Amino acid sequence: MSIHRRWRRVLWPSCLCLISTSAARGLSSITSPAQSAPYQPPSWCANQLTQAPHRRLVLANLPTPIYRALHHPLTPWNVNLLIKRDDSTGGVELSGNKIRKLEFLLADALERGCDAVVTIGGEQSNHCRATAAAARMIGLEPHLILRSPRANEDLGLVGNLLMDRMVGSQIYTCTPGEYGRVGSHELVRRVCAHLAAAGRRPYGIPVGGSNGVGSWGYVNGVDELIQQLSDDTPVDHIVFACGSGGTAAGITLGVALALGTSPRRPRVHAIGVCDDEDYFYREVADIATQMGLVVAEESTAEDFVRQHLTVHQGKGLGYAQSTAQELEFIQTLAATTGIVLDPVYSGKALYNFVQHVSESSDQYRDKTILFWHTGGALGLFEKVDELQQDLVRQSPCQRLDVYGKGAGIDISTPTAAS
Ligand SMILES: *Cc1c(COP(=O)(O)O)cnc(C)c1O
Repeated sequence: MSIHRRWRRVLWPSCLCLISTSAARGLSSITSPAQSAPYQPPSWCANQLTQAPHRRLVLANLPTPIYRALHHPLTPWNVNLLIKRDDSTGGVELSGNKIRKLEFLLADALERGCDAVVTIGGEQSNHCRATAAAARMIGLEPHLILRSPRANEDLGLVGNLLMDRMVGSQIYTCTPGEYGRVGSHELVRRVCAHLAAAGRRPYGIPVGGSNGVGSWGYVNGVDELIQQLSDDTPVDHIVFACGSGGTAAGITLGVALALGTSPRRPRVHAIGVCDDEDYFYREVADIATQMGLVVAEESTAEDFVRQHLTVHQGKGLGYAQSTAQELEFIQTLAATTGIVLDPVYSGKALYNFVQHVSESSDQYRDKTILFWHTGGALGLFEKVDELQQDLVRQSPCQRLDVYGKGAGIDISTPTAAS
């Protein structure tokens, strides 16, 4: 083994441990990623969500800021648009909504004494990327099952794949057909069994980290939001993208249980980027059940979810496929607000919600809408061919004529030194 490899294998994990101090958030500005702290759920869910996790890691940069957008696509309805920046939960490796779930999932993995993590997603999965990086930070080996029509080739290094591979993930590929027929849970189980047979102790995480453990990340996110908002800025609507349902489950339950009796309880809107509305009501209800949601007799978790959540169709051409209008929307929003949405989730979510507002007479006029930006910008790298023409027109590169040779923008006249 070369010195270099040895350094990687031996010194690096112990380096991270040396930075260890108190993991309790707020006690020190130095945190140890691999040290979990006891988790106390918000008091408002005490009797209504019975399956709270006991421990949590400190991985995300929280609380994330809330920005008020100056000019935005809902300005014609005089909407006060707030953007909750969960695209800023971490650096390029951890950022986005998944790291909130991973704080609970990976705490569980450590508690169970696991040494590897197995998860699954599309080839540009933000969840897989964040899982891989977070796993490395706490000394676990990341194993990713990526679904791609190019399953027989090397998947390359574009976008999230660059980060997956930078952190040394073991990558396994399958086709969309195999994924559909065998199912994501079974694929994770089989790769876990494969690793266990080789003496490893793997921890399986479902698609998007969306189960009864991970989704607590967004129950907690709602608690964070409530503490950030003052009483004189009541939010009328909360809007976000929905892919595997965990974010929707956490936010829906959080808002319902924390603010259920408030007359100004915000309405929760999830924009589905795959499947259909009924699928998501069922998925979210399923996760709510795993989280231990207590509902009235003669009622079901799905009734509860349907009462507190509106799912909108937003898949457009299909998962991870963009229309020219969606990409133009993302590009215009970026050029007017400085905030970049992603093509697979947040871009489709806000694009479709704006369509919905424009078709809803005046229901949203003068309201305060909080758009929860869930991250994902690395997914834009896969869309560069589709973005090329418009971006080159919007933002051309102009040659400077530094020596006055006659071509370009003439700046050949020296300025007087000040
Ligand atoms: C995964 C993801 C979502 C969807 O969250 P779920 O909890 O899976 O529904 C939204 N936005 C981005 C950027 C994501 O990566």
